Amino acid sequence: ANIVAIVGRPNVGKSTLFNRLTESRKAIVDDFSGVTRDRHYETAEWIGKKFTVIDTGGFVHGSDDVFEEAIRDQVYIAIEEASVVIFMVDVTTGITDLDDEIADILRRSSKPVYVVANKVDHAKLHHDSAEFYAFGLGEVFNISSATGSGTGELLDAVVSHFEEEQEEDEALPKYTIVGRPNVGKSSLTNALIGKDRNIVTPMAGTTRDSIRIHYNQYGHNFLLIDTAGLRRKSKVNEDIEFYSVMRTIKALEDSDVTILMLDAQDGLEAQDVNIFNLAEKNRKGIVIVVNKWDLIEKDNKTMKAFEDRIREKIAPFTDVPIIFTSVTEKQRVLKVLETADKVYANRTKKIPTSKLNEVMLNIIESYPPPSLKGKYIKIKYVTQLPGRTPMFAFFCNLPQYIKDPYKRFIENKLREHFDFTGVPIQIYFRQK
Ligand code: GDP
Repeated sequence: ANIVAIVGRPNVGKSTLFNRLTESRKAIVDDFSGVTRDRHYETAEWIGKKFTVIDTGGFVHGSDDVFEEAIRDQVYIAIEEASVVIFMVDVTTGITDLDDEIADILRRSSKPVYVVANKVDHAKLHHDSAEFYAFGLGEVFNISSATGSGTGELLDAVVSHFEEEQEEDEALPKYTIVGRPNVGKSSLTNALIGKDRNIVTPMAGTTRDSIRIHYNQYGHNFLLIDTAGLRRKSKVNEDIEFYSVMRTIKALEDSDVTILMLDAQDGLEAQDVNIFNLAEKNRKGIVIVVNKWDLIEKDNKTMKAFEDRIREKIAPFTDVPIIFTSVTEKQRVLKVLETADKVYANRTKKIPTSKLNEVMLNIIESYPPPSLKGKYIKIKYVTQLPGRTPMFAFFCNLPQYIKDPYKRFIENKLREHFDFTGVPIQIYFRQK
């Protein structure tokens, strides 16, 4: 997982840079859900390299005196967890004490650090940023996150540090359990693994820092990516939200299927929607588990109502299994695994081209894309593209005229006929 953390004192412009780096992707996800999304992490892409950007500023809450402490904590965590750290300073204020303090911490780390002088909105200010060389952290990148100038050079440098994604063709599916603290993640892991926890083998090396547990029982055979069991290296508070977010992102990116666990007493909250979106954008399989179902007073309508509320919030991608569990009462624990297996199978399946054309061309003939400006759009051929997640290309004469509602219609039909429950699918219209 390539994670870029933006650190720096308040008001230097971290969020503006964050928004700039991630904006093109944000536009893809329409906000249908009505959930307020305070996103502080988001996927981004530069010259074909995907990464997750984290705005550490978004995680500082509370009064002024906890402020500096919290910022220091985040810098420590960023050093441990991120692949690259962007240290942002403000050219209009110059070096402050807190800047110096952050620089001290960063100098002692071995992670790549980029000093970024922000608010260099015009050429005159270029000289002013020279003072930041005094940090002893190497080159200073001048940017204006308001206008976007300089961010290209910065990104070129940043992505040069990314690990080449190892094409791991490990045969085993990889699942991870994510969710807010106390929803029951460890309880579920324990229920599955129990006292066999000593089979746990931390994968050595610098590229990985999650624990992989090989589960092979009752006909299920997979690797559970577990981050909860890891001990922290530094003495920063374990509960800090920023830390758990970093770990969640890593585990999620590392896995094929994300098991998003909720506490039935709270339902799906904004933070959960953020994780859901991240999983969707990374094209991971998704299973939603509503745990502590034993604590809910219920009649025969409760489950359905609960499900409907969740689907409303995760729209438009609602074709996701939702399972109601009680880990403590051992209710439907194995059902979680069965469902994850099913989602994994959906994510890796290949539909034969002949079958795909037979079904889809029939539907398209009955419901062709609406003609535009008097031009008829003719879809001639469908094929599933090679890849690790389901992708389909529809070849037609005028791909540019096909609008989103029709694309959604096609997606729904694919789901209806071929079952891609729990799996994001990609649809492309191409010229033939
Ligand atoms: P984590 O932080 O997500 O790993 O959550 P834990 O597994 O540590 O669980 C937090 C608390 O919730 C513990 O006290 C568990 O015993 C309790 N818990 C977990 N699952 C259930 C459940 O299904 N029902 C009830 N009533 N309590 C649960």
